[in-house]
Amino acid sequence: MLPISSDNHRGRLNLSPGDISEAIGRFCGTIKFKTLSAPETFSLEPFHSMRYFSERAWPTVFSSLDLEIHGGASILLKWQGDSSVSLKPVMLTAHQDVVPVGDPDSWSHDPFGAELAEERIWGRGTLDYKCGFAGMLEAVSFLLASGFKPKRTVFLAFGHDEEVGGFFGAKAIAESLKKRGIRCSSVLDEGGYIYSDSDGGFVAELAIAEKGYASFCLTADAVQGHSSVPPQRTAIGTLSRGITALENASMPLPDMPEEIRSSTMLQTTFAPTIVSGGCKENVLPASASVTINTRPSPGNSVAEVHNFIDSIVGPLGISVELLDNTSVSEPSIISSTITEDYRALKASIQHNMLPGTGFRCGVFPAATDSRRYCMIAQNVYRFLPVHLSQRGIGALHSVDESIAVSDYIRCVKFYAEYISRLSSGS
Ligand SMILES: [Zn+2]
Repeated sequence: MLPISSDNHRGRLNLSPGDISEAIGRFCGTIKFKTLSAPETFSLEPFHSMRYFSERAWPTVFSSLDLEIHGGASILLKWQGDSSVSLKPVMLTAHQDVVPVGDPDSWSHDPFGAELAEERIWGRGTLDYKCGFAGMLEAVSFLLASGFKPKRTVFLAFGHDEEVGGFFGAKAIAESLKKRGIRCSSVLDEGGYIYSDSDGGFVAELAIAEKGYASFCLTADAVQGHSSVPPQRTAIGTLSRGITALENASMPLPDMPEEIRSSTMLQTTFAPTIVSGGCKENVLPASASVTINTRPSPGNSVAEVHNFIDSIVGPLGISVELLDNTSVSEPSIISSTITEDYRALKASIQHNMLPGTGFRCGVFPAATDSRRYCMIAQNVYRFLPVHLSQRGIGALHSVDESIAVSDYIRCVKFYAEYISRLSSGS
């Protein structure tokens, strides 16, 4: 029996209880591999093992699509479209790596056990982002079984170092495609989720932009002296006034597209994260400094953020320096909401939500692999059809990471419908 409903050619899957339980089993299999992004103990071995497992779990996917390995363990799968159709390819991406678990004893389930309890699957990577990795493979497997042939070429890209910047995985994939002159009309990545709204309902947020990342060191100088005779202005006092001024400041934004104007995440943020100054209780230090981690809004460049901080704290006598490390990234472009890909995505989101779930566009406040794919894609959309708890995106890297079984199945159905809508040329 075809798993796709015969009265609807948009890839809407009819999954039997048996299909669902087998799909959950395959997904749980991926959770058990310790594909950790931990710089000190990093090993490619678990990634290779997870790929061998995946080749056995989804054999038709690996035998029907072209496989390339980039950067050591990143996977690029190409599902060739109809060559007579001159439509640009599309890409779906998920990362294979997961963040460390911290103290495993603080988990209520084995972080790599993929235990099923309370209608949820528990373990590191269930949300971030093996539900995408396994969900996409599962969706393609079902589409292949149904006899579906894409008109447009579909790429599945699975980086292996997203959590530490994507310097070897996503970057290598993007550069390789660029070298071959391949450009996608869009990339779908993580970054938008289903949130609880204030009325007790849900809203699906499709992130059409991503904030940048830059840290600055603010330094206040003063004359070193004895703390028994403090002057009116001290280094630490001046620095404190600077931090407070920045906390109260709001950086102006240029005119933004209607779709994201009401996003609560739109503003550039300034977070003091490391403070230092002084070394002895009775000595006034000659200087004090603070690291301000900023997330520039899509309307503000890193240089503009630098100038803005300068304009707020400069008059207080505080100097500002950009910490020029490899993490600095400009905010993304704002992706179009009038493309065919956007329409396919929005329809696939709306068809796979619980009744009454709202829809909105938004801005993702953190950086993902999608920044690497900007060089080969006109538009980047970010969405994962899972319900986040009240903790919001904080749930992704937390102890007791878990996903509802129904949300994982929603991922599979959503990806199948999206691929089908995108690549059917209609
Ligand atoms: Zn992630």
